[in-house]
Amino acid sequence: MSDERAERIADFVESLRVEPGSKVRLGRDFDPRDKAGLKKRDGAELLRAGVDMLAEYQERLAAQDTYGVLVCLQALDAGGKDGTIRHVMSGVNPQGVRVSSFKVPSAEELDHDYLWRYAQRLPERGGIAIFNRSHYEEVLVVRVHPELLLRQKLPDRAGGSGEWKRRYREINNWERYLTDNGFKVVKIFLNLSKEEQRTRFLKRLDVPEKNWKFSTADVQERRHWDDYQYAFSKMLSATSTKWAPWYVVPADRKWFARICTAAILAHTLIDIDPRYPEVDDETRKGLRSARRKLEREAPPRRPADPYAARHPSAVRKKRR
Ligand code: AMP
Ligand code: MG
Repeated sequence: MSDERAERIADFVESLRVEPGSKVRLGRDFDPRDKAGLKKRDGAELLRAGVDMLAEYQERLAAQDTYGVLVCLQALDAGGKDGTIRHVMSGVNPQGVRVSSFKVPSAEELDHDYLWRYAQRLPERGGIAIFNRSHYEEVLVVRVHPELLLRQKLPDRAGGSGEWKRRYREINNWERYLTDNGFKVVKIFLNLSKEEQRTRFLKRLDVPEKNWKFSTADVQERRHWDDYQYAFSKMLSATSTKWAPWYVVPADRKWFARICTAAILAHTLIDIDPRYPEVDDETRKGLRSARRKLEREAPPRRPADPYAARHPSAVRKKRR
């Protein structure tokens, strides 16, 4: 990975990051239509480069087995979460990634503290976990619909703004704890405009193969647009931290949202810089003796090492 390329990604990603401690007003501060001067034509190639890079880094992350990565994806309905996951993770080994979607909590989930169900889906070391919706629903949909809070069987608490401040603090502390223990937390908000949401809903109605994605509840939810914008703004202001920053991705153009997401993930992995484990002298000795044993087993007229015979230059380089 050239430093120059890493730097370019870092600069680009920086422009999407919510500065910790800043006060965000979504409508004023972020434009869902932005595409950073790029053309859709260039988009495909950039995305492919990003996807390849992610595949390589994911392999190193798994080999190193020290860090895990948690990616939280949030968006309003039709924001493009599913398609973004499908495209951005398309080159990555499925064994290294686990996607979890969070819906309305079950009775069992409501019988626990509100972070319980998310804690069960955290990544393992060497792995990447993607949350399609995340613990942030607990300060978004639950804030917009206070009756959901009542169903959470909390001890005597009035709700009100104290409840949200407390949850922001609890979430920040939880993410800090995860980070300190080797689990990087990356948070991405796909920022969609109200008009683009309308267009995408209508597409789901117009195209029969898309009908299944449409839910009348989504149109109901759209009536709370301004409440959501407010809840998102508050959340971004309170929970973008040095250890687990938020990124706001312009989402009106799907191709651009995917490039941004790939860049953010690549940047995170570059930052971790996972390495293949070094082989120590003792192990190297063991490898050499295993090689000799295998080479002695060569049948008549077969090369001692068929792989080296086929790829002489590659093997010479690696053995150096
Ligand atoms: P979808 O992602 O379209 O399958 O929808 C999932 C639904 O579950 C959305 O309407 C979310 O608002 C809702 N949901 C997700 N998390 C929670 C939560 N913690 N409390 C209440 N509703 C939730
Ligand atoms: Mg939905």
